[in-house]
Amino acid sequence: MDNYADILIVGAGVVGCALARELSRFQVSVAVVDRGWDVAEGASKANSGIVHAGYDAVPGSLKAKYNVEGANMFASLCDSLGVPYSRCGALVVGFSDEDRKTLELLLDRGLRNGVPDMKLLSGEEARALEPNLNPAVTCALLVPTSGIVSPYELTFALADDAALNGVSFHLGTAVSAVKPLPDGGFLAETDRGPWRCRIFLNCAGTSSAVFHNQLCKESPLKITYRRGQYYLLDRPKAPPFARTIFQCPSAMGKGVLVSPTVHGNVLLGPSAEDIDDPTDTAVTQSGLDSVMERVRMTWPAVSLRTNITNFSGIRAHEESGDFVIGPVPGCPGAYETVGIESPGLSSAPAIARDLAARIAEAEHLAPRAERVPYRKPLRPFREMTPEEQQEAIRKDPRYGTIVCRCEVITEAEIVAAAHRPVPAQTIDAVKRRTRAGMGRCQGGFCSPRVAAILSRETGIPLIDITKNGGESYLLTGTLTEEAERRNQA
Ligand SMILES: Cc1cc2nc3c(=O)[nH]c(=O)nc-3n(C[C@H](O)[C@H](O)[C@H](O)COP(=O)(O)OP(=O)(O)OC[C@H]3O[C@@H](n4cnc5c(N)ncnc54)[C@H](O)[C@@H]3O)c2cc1C
Repeated sequence: MDNYADILIVGAGVVGCALARELSRFQVSVAVVDRGWDVAEGASKANSGIVHAGYDAVPGSLKAKYNVEGANMFASLCDSLGVPYSRCGALVVGFSDEDRKTLELLLDRGLRNGVPDMKLLSGEEARALEPNLNPAVTCALLVPTSGIVSPYELTFALADDAALNGVSFHLGTAVSAVKPLPDGGFLAETDRGPWRCRIFLNCAGTSSAVFHNQLCKESPLKITYRRGQYYLLDRPKAPPFARTIFQCPSAMGKGVLVSPTVHGNVLLGPSAEDIDDPTDTAVTQSGLDSVMERVRMTWPAVSLRTNITNFSGIRAHEESGDFVIGPVPGCPGAYETVGIESPGLSSAPAIARDLAARIAEAEHLAPRAERVPYRKPLRPFREMTPEEQQEAIRKDPRYGTIVCRCEVITEAEIVAAAHRPVPAQTIDAVKRRTRAGMGRCQGGFCSPRVAAILSRETGIPLIDITKNGGESYLLTGTLTEEAERRNQA
């Protein structure tokens, strides 16, 4: 028998999960399918994590509308979900008269978009705020309302809240095609069997144009896959910059930044290069070199000695340059979010609130009377006072076992990750929920221990535990099997 949900959401990124959470307020069954083995496996895990204030988007565009509305929602949303967020502010720096004109344009755009408290500064004024800036910086735009967030932790919290309120998540499920059914509703073909639904909601990131074009042949959309590569530096004793430092944006994106992260690391990037394969998240020497060339302009003293990892994410750039959000033209019951590139993270809460309300009205959805209240994740052990740590260990001795030494993550926290409403099922899923494996040794020490705990807690045989799903197995067999193989050879 086919799977069925009143609403089927394809894509468990920050947009799909925010929409799932909003739609869980109504008396309908909602299912989310994603080809990844965790939520936030697309752009939502690999981006700059900036909650943009909204000075860059063209006034009147959907990007401008949702960015400014979304950014205003972050403080209370992150507080209610226990997600790390900081309104650290930003500086956009310039090096020439031409850059100053760009900054004036951004200031004007920001004012028209409703961004408060921005100010143009001289190079000296900028360096008074951020002494590590290049002496060659001649001008800057100060944007106090810019913020930073952990993008994947936000996505997990949105998904958990949705799951607590009845949304089902089907990970490791790739959708190949969707079509309207003659009697209404839709049929989505997946590699785990067909799904039927009354309402189809396309939040498929880099694949979003594929499903749009299957449903709406008259006005096709085109997504360009634009990869951005990063360096992530270990937590410094003294952060080089208190704010996010941008350079002037270009047609390819918001430019290369140097930014603190909410966890105290330093992020450098991203590059911008158009690629053919929407799944190719490789990092390349040329991409990383292009990042460093730009970073040195902002921060001449940068050193890569503390670099702990590199990664890349892929932007879904729609040809029109704007977000495409709303009903699929000519296809009643189908809705979409296409081309959600930056500032998509900043915009996600507002996109979800607005689109869910439009769907509810058009599809006559009745609100639910009650919601299951969200329980914030436990405070990380490393952030507790010594007294709190003692108390935590007294209540649960598993807090007394440090599994990840670099980030000081305990067994109790890994166990909790395996039992969240959308549970961690892979090593990477544990890593992003707890930070085990996020530190200097990048999981070299703790991965086998995490695998053993995950296997014990989930019932997945140890041999089947993967790094991030698919064929990414950690173990190739047992010692007994290997001995037998060698004996026979
Ligand atoms: C390099 C980079 C830097 C960025 N920096 C910022 C920033 O600082 N601030 C900001 O506001 N925005 C930023 N963004 C944009 C932001 O990350 C995205 O707009 C946002 O994450 C999009 O969320 P989404 O849910 O639409 O897409 P995604 O997170 O990509 O989710 C789409 C999901 O669909 C799934 N999927 C795709 N195809 C299929 C299929 N066939 N079957 C099943 N599932 C499928 C994928 O696995 C994925 O999980 C950046 C993006 C990138 C790439």
